[in-house]
Amino acid sequence: MKQTRNILLALLFGAIVGLALNLFAPHLFTPLNQYVFDPVGKLFIKLIKMLVVPIVFFSIALGAAGIGDPKKLGRIGGKAISFFLVTTALAIMLAMALALVLSPGKVGSIDTAASQAYEPKGEPPSVVDTFLNIVPDNPIQAMVNGDMLAIIFFAVLVGFALAMLREKSPTFYNFIEEGNNIMLYLVTVVMKTAPYGTFALIASAIGKQGFDAMGKMALYMVTILIALFLHTVIVYGGAVKLLAKKSPVWFFKNFFPVMTIGFSTSSSSASLPVAMKTAQEKLGVPRSISSFVQPLGATINMDGTAIMQGVATIFIAQVYGVTLTFEQLIMVVLTAVLASIGTAGVPGVGLIMLAMVLDQVNLPVEGIALIMGVDRLLDMTRTAVNITGDAVCALAVAESEKKHSSPNEKIA
Ligand code: ASP
Repeated sequence: MKQTRNILLALLFGAIVGLALNLFAPHLFTPLNQYVFDPVGKLFIKLIKMLVVPIVFFSIALGAAGIGDPKKLGRIGGKAISFFLVTTALAIMLAMALALVLSPGKVGSIDTAASQAYEPKGEPPSVVDTFLNIVPDNPIQAMVNGDMLAIIFFAVLVGFALAMLREKSPTFYNFIEEGNNIMLYLVTVVMKTAPYGTFALIASAIGKQGFDAMGKMALYMVTILIALFLHTVIVYGGAVKLLAKKSPVWFFKNFFPVMTIGFSTSSSSASLPVAMKTAQEKLGVPRSISSFVQPLGATINMDGTAIMQGVATIFIAQVYGVTLTFEQLIMVVLTAVLASIGTAGVPGVGLIMLAMVLDQVNLPVEGIALIMGVDRLLDMTRTAVNITGDAVCALAVAESEKKHSSPNEKIA
């Protein structure tokens, strides 16, 4: 509790300092950001990111070894993926409906000329490549590159082998178990620096923000924020209540510190170690489920990102005076689900993947330039939502697995 309070205070204090510097002393902000906020913030992100690959590997291997039965893992995976797909589709539909009603692209005059110089930041990967890359050529290389799906795949296989050979390879099993404990302990240690990191990240992000650019984009931002809020309360709150049979208030109270980490780092992947630790220790999700569902979710489940993509597509269509047909709207839902699966859990990638959605319905990709200026703050907010969805899913799957677990089965 004390830690939550400290992180919250740091968020608030960082926002005030960033805003004050932005408005009243921009000349002071530049050196402060260069030598204090930016390096301190980056250091914090590096400290938690450092734990992502080992924690994902150890805990998935251990989780798969605990499950042991490929059928059960398939069932858990199937449930998680269905949950991810349904909630992401709901997120985009909610976002598009709200954008069509509030029409953020029809207010004021948004100058599209500025977007002409837009240069795409990177190519979205093809869907086929994304699937093929799940199997790594070299698992060590996958770990070095942080290819999450490939690491998950390899770790699951190692976990199965561990389950089969547990009698013969107790040393390796113990190594994985101890490795997992050590990494979880390190999460606690690194989280002691969270208030400083959060303060620096927020002060830097808000200090850098061009508030002049925000005026015309205010309704666009508000539309996304309302959609994120409604999705969190209705869809996640509903899933916690109906699927996980738990109180949404209890869930949000316990998970809130993780949301602040998602918010300040803008990275699902960096938030993963804290998200898993919280799900296992505070929400009571069995390790075998949390360690499989949450890394998978941090990689492929991005409801917040899908919401941004839904609103952005409608916004860009409205600014360019294009009316999307019903078929095109359906197309947006389908491609945005794929785009959010392909979005890596790092800052800003959702915007790159938006190109894929715009392309599908023949909207100008340069439209992205219009929303780029205000994306930083939205990225923070949507990441908090992205990681919440993964935890809700883990909780719901854990509840539904209860009826399958026999008294002799170890699912911790
Ligand atoms: N920053 C987001 C995440 O890590 C991805 C995005 O929407 O850009 O979850």
